[in-house]
Amino acid sequence: MKRVGVLGGGQLGRMLAASASLLNIPVSVLEVGEHAPAKQVISPVPPLKHVDGSFTSPSSIRQLAAQVDILTVEIEHVNVSVLEDVQKETGIEVHPSPRTIRIIQDKFIQKEHLKAHGLSVANFLPLEPTIENVRKVAAEFGLPLMIKSRTLAYDGRGNYVLRSLDDASISAALTALANRPLYAEQWVPFIKEAAVVVVRSISGEVYAYPLVETVHKDNICHLVFAPYRGSVDISSVAQRIAEDAVRTFNGAGVFGVELFVREAGDVYINEIAPRPHNSGHYTIEACNTSQYENHLRAILDLPIGNTSLIVPSAIMLNLIGTSDDQAPLHSVIATAFTIPGACVHLYGKSQCRKGRKMGHITIVATDDAEARSRLRPLLAALPSSDT
Ligand code: ATP
Ligand code: MG
Ligand code: MG
Repeated sequence: MKRVGVLGGGQLGRMLAASASLLNIPVSVLEVGEHAPAKQVISPVPPLKHVDGSFTSPSSIRQLAAQVDILTVEIEHVNVSVLEDVQKETGIEVHPSPRTIRIIQDKFIQKEHLKAHGLSVANFLPLEPTIENVRKVAAEFGLPLMIKSRTLAYDGRGNYVLRSLDDASISAALTALANRPLYAEQWVPFIKEAAVVVVRSISGEVYAYPLVETVHKDNICHLVFAPYRGSVDISSVAQRIAEDAVRTFNGAGVFGVELFVREAGDVYINEIAPRPHNSGHYTIEACNTSQYENHLRAILDLPIGNTSLIVPSAIMLNLIGTSDDQAPLHSVIATAFTIPGACVHLYGKSQCRKGRKMGHITIVATDDAEARSRLRPLLAALPSSDT
C-alpha cells in the first residue's frame, strides 16, 4: 500500500488516520507537537515516522515528503510553494493539486475562480483598508457588509460584519482585521446554510454526498442535519452545483462545499474546502462510506465508495469549548452515553479553549422526529456559551 503523508494533525487528520488504520494504509502526520490529535490514533511502522513541525515549514514538509508516496492535506493553510517545488523535484503525488489549494486558500481568488466558471457566489470586491474605500463598497453593496480576510480564515476568525458607516464603526472593523489582506462581500440574506461533501477521483469523476443543513453559532458550525429538509426540495440541484464546482478543481480527494440557501430556493456557494469537512463528520456513522475513507480511496486511486445515507436521519453536534476548562462539556458527553444511536467522538486536544472544537456527537435515528428527540437532552446538557 502506498504511504500517505498528511499535512496537518487536527481532528480531520485524526479521523482520516483512524480510517487509514482500518485499511492498513501507512500514514505519517506533519504537525507541531508529538501528541497532536491525528498522531494519537496511528503509530507508523518504522522507518515511517510522524513529523514534528509546521505545515508551513519548508524543511518539515520536505521531511514528510521524503518518507511517503502521496501527500495530502487536512487544512488548506499550508505552504503551497514548497508543495509545488517538492512535486517538481521528486514527482511525488500531491492531492488535491497544489494549484487547487492555492486557489482555495485565498478566498478572493477562490471567488473569482467560481464566478469565472459560472457558479453563483455573493457579489464581492477587493478592498484596500481605508475608511473611504469601505464607504465606497458599502454604497454599492449596502449594509450589513461582510468584510473578510482573504487568507488564513477559519471558524469566522477573519470575518467582520459591518453594520454602520460612521468612522468609529469602520475603524473598529479595520482594526479587527489589521494586517490581513481583505475583500468585501455583499450580505446574503439566506434562510438556511447547507453543505455538500463531494469526492473527486483521480480521473476527475465527482460524487456528491447528501445535502445537509448546517447551523452556525458565533460563526462556528454548531449542528448538522442530514439529510437537508426544506419546504422546497433543493437537494439534487444543490448536489449538482457542488459537483460542478468541484469539477473545476484539479486533484483527487474530498471537498466540502458550503452553501447559502435563499428564500426563492436558489443556492449560492459560500466557500469550498479542499479536504474533509466538519459538515461531513456524520458520514462516519450515517453513510455507506465515510468522507475520510473516500478521501483515502480517491487519493490512492481505489474505487470510490457509495456516498448515500444508510439511515433515514442523522444529526451531528459539535462540542465547542466554552473556556480553558473542558469540564463543562463532561455533562453532555455523559448524557450522550445514555442515548441510543449517539456516538461520541473526542479529539484528544491537549488544551481546551473557548471556541475550540473539542469533539462531536453523531446521532442516528429512524426518522427526523426521533433524531430531534435524541438531540434535545444533549442540547439541554450543553454548557452555556458565555460561561
Ligand atoms: P470555516 O470555519 O467554515 O472555514 P470561515 O472562517 O472561512 O469559516 P466563512 O465560511 O466565510 O468563514 O463565514 C462564516 C459564517 O459567516 C458563514 O457560515 C455564514 O454564517 C456567515 N457568512 C459568511 N459570509 C456571509 C455573507 N456574505 N452573508 C451572510 N453571512 C455570511
Ligand atoms: Mg473557511
Ligand atoms: Mg466557512
